[in-house]
Amino acid sequence: MIIKMKSAATRADVEYVVARVHSLGLKSHVSEDGGQVLIGILGSFDDATPSAFTGLRGVERVLPTKRAYRLASREYRPEPTEIRLGDVVIGGDQVVIMSGPCSVESRDLLIEAAILAQKAGATVLRGGAFKPRTSPYSFQGMAEDGLKILAEARDITGMPVITEVMSSETVPLVSEYADILQIGTRNMQNFHLLFAAGRQPKPVLLKRGMMSTIEELLLSAEYIMSQGNTNVILCERGIRTFETATRNTLDLNAIPVLKELSHLPVVVDPSHATGRRSLVPAMARAAIASGADGLLIEMHQNPEQALSDGDQSVTPDQLSNLVEECRRVSVAIGRTL
Ligand code: PEP
Ligand code: MN
Repeated sequence: MIIKMKSAATRADVEYVVARVHSLGLKSHVSEDGGQVLIGILGSFDDATPSAFTGLRGVERVLPTKRAYRLASREYRPEPTEIRLGDVVIGGDQVVIMSGPCSVESRDLLIEAAILAQKAGATVLRGGAFKPRTSPYSFQGMAEDGLKILAEARDITGMPVITEVMSSETVPLVSEYADILQIGTRNMQNFHLLFAAGRQPKPVLLKRGMMSTIEELLLSAEYIMSQGNTNVILCERGIRTFETATRNTLDLNAIPVLKELSHLPVVVDPSHATGRRSLVPAMARAAIASGADGLLIEMHQNPEQALSDGDQSVTPDQLSNLVEECRRVSVAIGRTL
């Protein structure tokens, strides 16, 4: 449920309504949209609850939301959310390219990759330091050493960095180094991790669980937002279907559906969605044509020797071509890149 205050409502009016919300054992989340204060109501309430607010001074309307998620919904915030990281804006007119290797493998490789990705047109650097691998015998990532290398690459290139956080215990550590925390597909419903990510200030890129519905993705975003961190980026990275020709199936439908249901930026990862380097450019173009605000793309200087996800990693040259193609698609739909 959302309470929309009148433009003329005073601070005291807002405070009174908030106190009323709390007196009913519910939580509130106050925000502003175009000069109007919105009070989101969180907690369990019934059909009778809206009447407790309709007559209060300064209240324009009480909007019942039928959706299970509230803060993430379009009803709650009609304007798109823009997330700013220095000069980079995610969710604005400009399409954002986030790229780099699947994993941070060594200092020299990562620094070189960062410079090459930037040259190719990326404005955010990716690289996993904590890797969720299907097999416990696979490379697990460089952990804190990897985070330090990412921070150094940021110092050198000026690019903000995105890296995965796998557990609630490591949220403070990853948050200290990263500009964006990535929550991976396997952890989309790790609710302790979502809460922890919601209690720290860095934006969170939340990947859709490979077997999760769009509503479940939005409810997971809601977990983060309910803790105060509303800078959440949704990421479609392919879901599991009966199809075996590709690693996953990129659900392009999810992009316009998420845009209809939510104000949060949507980023697409065509690397994990396809699992094959040759398919990444086509799906990258399709994602932008479908309304994605950005792309998360794995790139490696020598994909055959990558310690993880080499098959789906493009080379720096391929990234460069892909960005050029995506630029043309962006312009065709009235955006920039
Ligand atoms: C990754 O980005 O390298 C990754 C592990 O992604 P996902 O969680 O989508 O599998
Ligand atoms: Mn990967």
